[in-house]
Amino acid sequence: MLPIDIPLALMVLAGGALGAIVGSFVAALVMRWPRGESVVGGRSRCDSCGGTLRAGELVPVLSYLMQFGRCRRCGVRIDPKHPAIELAGALIGVVSVLAHPLPLALVTAGFAWWLLAVAAIDAEEQWLPDALTLPLVPLGLLAAWAGLGPPLLDRALGAVVGGLGLALLAWIYRALRGREGMGGGDPKLLAGIGAWLGVLQLPFVLLGAGLVGIVAALAMTARGQAVGAATRLPLGSLMAVAAWPLWILVAGNSSAAIHLYML
Ligand SMILES: [Zn+2]
Repeated sequence: MLPIDIPLALMVLAGGALGAIVGSFVAALVMRWPRGESVVGGRSRCDSCGGTLRAGELVPVLSYLMQFGRCRRCGVRIDPKHPAIELAGALIGVVSVLAHPLPLALVTAGFAWWLLAVAAIDAEEQWLPDALTLPLVPLGLLAAWAGLGPPLLDRALGAVVGGLGLALLAWIYRALRGREGMGGGDPKLLAGIGAWLGVLQLPFVLLGAGLVGIVAALAMTARGQAVGAATRLPLGSLMAVAAWPLWILVAGNSSAAIHLYML
């Protein structure tokens, strides 16, 4: 018989369930915010007919599967981004619990859920709202002050160097090429990511963003989409996706916690 670590199994279940619930909020935020609709107020409803969802229709991922991806009232296809974001949220919860003990696991998941919203909204709308990028700076410094992840000075420098560095790169690109190379929100996002990972990780964030971009371009090619020099992948999404695995590594190093579960 395989030995099963019951407390860990329960933690994984709880992490996945909490992640799916957070994911459904993130999905609602990503779908509604760009259309100027209220995100926090009001009950959950169908994007198409506006019908209020009942309890049985609110279960992340499962409701979607049981209704064959359609609304129960109007029969219109539910955007598959809903269950995809919910699933990503659940996965984040599971990985965070496996990677770190509490309370670092919760902070790790919180950072990733936030990045999920950033990545999804930038991929969907080519838009990085200040309300999503800027709070990452004080939140990252607060986590450092609480002793979670890299030290405070490293992260304060990361915010400054990340923000100013990318703004400078954008300025140089504009001067040389005569057009915008990135969105105005990208330097603010890298400031936020720097406040979590620290200044030394910034080159790896950009390198990782490049790698994620290559993988995304290959996936688009495999799906028959044309990819060329004019294809624009949202830099914000790429940096957000690259930042999280790096956080898991650096946060684990400073708390020496990974092997607690890996042993
Ligand atoms: Zn409907």
